[in-house]
Amino acid sequence: MANYKKIGIMGGTFDPVHYGHLVLAEQVRSNLRLDCIYFVPSGDPPHKTDKVITDKYLRYEMVLLATVDNPRFDILDTELKSDKKNYTIDSIREIKKDLGINDKIYFITGADQILNIESWKDYKTLLRENVFIGASRPGYAEDELYKKISMLKKELHANIIHIEVPALAISSTDIRNRIREGNTIRYLLPESVEQYIYKHKLYK
Ligand code: NAP
Repeated sequence: MANYKKIGIMGGTFDPVHYGHLVLAEQVRSNLRLDCIYFVPSGDPPHKTDKVITDKYLRYEMVLLATVDNPRFDILDTELKSDKKNYTIDSIREIKKDLGINDKIYFITGADQILNIESWKDYKTLLRENVFIGASRPGYAEDELYKKISMLKKELHANIIHIEVPALAISSTDIRNRIREGNTIRYLLPESVEQYIYKHKLYK
């Protein structure tokens, strides 16, 4: 593994991964001059016990297909290895240990998660020890989000960056609905992922 110092971790269910995720990751990597972005597909998300999600190995393979042609993107199976619930603070600690990183990392995910952050395990430590990047499409819940970010910064000295990415108009939910309704998903995600979805008859 390369000797990277400044890394981003892109956490998500990726059901399926799409161009919104890829554009966001590349933008953050470039803006913050990160060495590499590691995609970490969720295994068994603690907050989704009531929802049906695609098998974790299929989601992992789709992310692999989507990221393979970018030398600054990589994928980690940290959250796939055990059947226990995965909490971000534990995953980040394990990744830092495996990669030999002592500095903070940049955790990238959807901005909605900032609004729910109090429900995360050890969220205060997580926010103090790392930089949290919440991405949204322009106009998303602006007032509520800005209030929450400034409260977390003031009270916890949290390191939070909000980024607006127009490409996040693409969403996994919309892609799944389109497939269910027999509509096209072309140009919303890499062609290799599209073919993988059809081959494995996903989201029907
Ligand atoms: P989600 O509920 O599937 O997604 C919520 C929203 O965020 C959706 O609009 C989703 O869009 C978007 N989103 C998710 N990941 C994104 C990413 N990397 N970049 C941009 N947008 C993203 O959320 P999730 O995927 O389950 O959770 C996100 C991350 O937070 C995961 O790594 C999860 O493990 C972590 N998490 C941890 C805890 C905890 O430690 N207790 C609790 C909650 C979440 P798309 O559907 O289009 O992706």
